[in-house]
Amino acid sequence: MSEAEFSGGCLCGKVRYSVAAPVQQVCYCHCESCRHASGAPFVAWATFSADDFVAVRGEIKQHRSSEYVLRGFCATCATPLTYWHESRAGQIDVTLASLDAAGELAPRFHLWVKEKLPWVQLNDDLPRYDTVREPDRNNGSLPG
Ligand SMILES: [Zn+2]
Ligand SMILES: [Zn+2]
Repeated sequence: MSEAEFSGGCLCGKVRYSVAAPVQQVCYCHCESCRHASGAPFVAWATFSADDFVAVRGEIKQHRSSEYVLRGFCATCATPLTYWHESRAGQIDVTLASLDAAGELAPRFHLWVKEKLPWVQLNDDLPRYDTVREPDRNNGSLPG
């Protein structure tokens, strides 16, 4: 990544955020929790250092979607924006599609394929993991 930082925001424009490069990973998550939280068949995420994330405009509300997880969204239009897991507290995931530069950051692998909807066809050659990647694993396989 050549940019020093990335920016993004929600559908209504009341929330804008910035986060410093580099992006640490970009993936698709097929877990049931992400599906329900987004209302979509799967979610693409980009992971950054949590220290470098800041809401530069508006308010990001958070809700605890499971024991270890906080999901952030625009308080006005409810666009899903962030994901934070206690077991990797130094990182924050942002919804890839909320980034202004989403088109430049292609996902590199699929997570939680064991919970994938049966009619979602994966036609790429990206690595697929039943749950999380081993290097990212903390506390067993806590669902997201
Ligand atoms: Zn909004
Ligand atoms: Zn997920």
